[in-house]
Amino acid sequence: MNTIQRKKPAVAALLSLVLPGAGQMYNGQIGIGLLCMILTIGLYFTIVLGLILHIFVINDAYKYAKKLNKQMEQAEEEARRKEEERRRKKEEASKKELDGYLQSFSLPLLIQKIHDDTPESDKAKQTLEKILALTTDQNIKSQIQDALENMVKQKERKKEEQRNKELREQGLVYCDKCKGTVARQELRKEIEDFDDGWQRIEHSYCPKCGNDLTWK
Ligand SMILES: [Zn+2]
Repeated sequence: MNTIQRKKPAVAALLSLVLPGAGQMYNGQIGIGLLCMILTIGLYFTIVLGLILHIFVINDAYKYAKKLNKQMEQAEEEARRKEEERRRKKEEASKKELDGYLQSFSLPLLIQKIHDDTPESDKAKQTLEKILALTTDQNIKSQIQDALENMVKQKERKKEEQRNKELREQGLVYCDKCKGTVARQELRKEIEDFDDGWQRIEHSYCPKCGNDLTWK
């Protein structure tokens, strides 16, 4: 932005009242200020002409300070307008990009794809993330966020199932409390009889921490 300081017209006028041309210098007009100073002081030998020029110089310092401020305001306004224009264009571009995605892809189809274990699922995920970054639609946002969260959970579940299956084949079970494996024959068994007398469940507990591992 502009680094030039605002000028105070009253200060400029007061300076030129005390010393003709000082207000001009305050306004940044060094040469003109010096000229005003020499001419006004010189003309004061005739008193009247000096006085007239002095009043003119005071008035000029005041008006020029005002003019400078106005120019500064206009420049700032112009900068603001350009910034606003730049922001609007950026917004328009991302909206266009978003519309492009939404036209080329179906949201439910993309969401469905990320749950598949196909090479396309990564692409679908990336597209969903792009849409998520671009959209301002809360409904679309939460749909995508939920889908991505579900996908992560589902992947974790699958991983856990796979791990449990491998352990089962080795006669082991994973205890997520101990963060370790236990041999199946070491599990502490407990039979639970139900009130109706017909059903019973054999519970399996971790021998180290007592964690219920019945369904693992
Ligand atoms: Zn345990």
